[in-house]
Amino acid sequence: MTAQTIDGVELSRQIRDHLSQRAQTLAAQGRRPGLAVILVGEDPASAVYVRNKVKACEAHGLHSVFEKYEAHLTEADLLQRIRTLNADPSIHGILVQMPLPCHIDPHRVIETIAVHKDVDGFSTLSAGELMSGLPGFRPCTPYGCMKLIESTGTDIRGKHAVVIGRSNTVGKPMALLLLQAHATVTVCHSATPDLGLHTRQADILVAAVGRRHMVTADMVKPGAVVIDVGINRNDQGKLQGDVDFDAVREVAGWITPVPGGVGPMTITMLLVNTVEAAECSLQAA
Ligand code: NDP
Repeated sequence: MTAQTIDGVELSRQIRDHLSQRAQTLAAQGRRPGLAVILVGEDPASAVYVRNKVKACEAHGLHSVFEKYEAHLTEADLLQRIRTLNADPSIHGILVQMPLPCHIDPHRVIETIAVHKDVDGFSTLSAGELMSGLPGFRPCTPYGCMKLIESTGTDIRGKHAVVIGRSNTVGKPMALLLLQAHATVTVCHSATPDLGLHTRQADILVAAVGRRHMVTADMVKPGAVVIDVGINRNDQGKLQGDVDFDAVREVAGWITPVPGGVGPMTITMLLVNTVEAAECSLQAA
């Protein structure tokens, strides 16, 4: 069997087309969705991520504010800037790019963002809403993974889903979203003995580790849906996922490529959350 590729670029395009229309409708009502993106310091990878997010906003009719600060910005000044954005009615979503310089506590920063503007879905309140099955912003990467899985037509209910990785931003929310969709969920991590024992039982396998090609063909159940979140570079600097794509596609039923799978969906779901935040602000007015 050769797996069908789940095209994250095409799915993103479809979702973004619809979003542009929603953004236009909001703009006509004087509520153009606005996203503020804050970057502190000079991390080159962060600069690329931030640029892509701002570009995506501009391409789809969202208003974006990009604020870049020197690495020596104090935590107090950053928190004050966030409080100002919390009170700014033209801004519906606030994103502070991680990682932050060591002298700034990321937890305190995230908790300062108003929950109705927490479009990254990283705050403890947003996490609590997800855990309790309440409406709220879902972290963009796992939210995008759910859309990729759904796009295959797979009925998630009753399936066995295995998530490798348990970070607060990807692995844990991914497991909760799958649980909410009525999958039976196993979460694996660095202390899991015999990873393959678990992954071979997965109808849906999500790899979110950050280790190039750690998921090999013998670890995958025939016909499984395989979602590769990992971003790694090989010796030539080429982007590669956590899954050995060429080998695993001979076993899986569906598989996301890297690049072109989860990556574009992460930015798309950020736009979705921002447009939803603007729609909610209209309803609350
Ligand atoms: P973290 O480093 O925060 O988490 C990695 C997880 O993998 C941890 O839970 C860790 O376990 C687990 N792990 C490490 N080694 C093993 C192992 N040998 N077997 C099983 N589990 C293991 O990373 P993130 O969750 O932030 O990101 C994961 C990957 O996804 C990275 O490559 C990142 O770049 C990528 N990413 C991609 C995005 C996209 O848009 N495409 C967005 C966000 C992330 P433990 O908890 O025990 O340490």
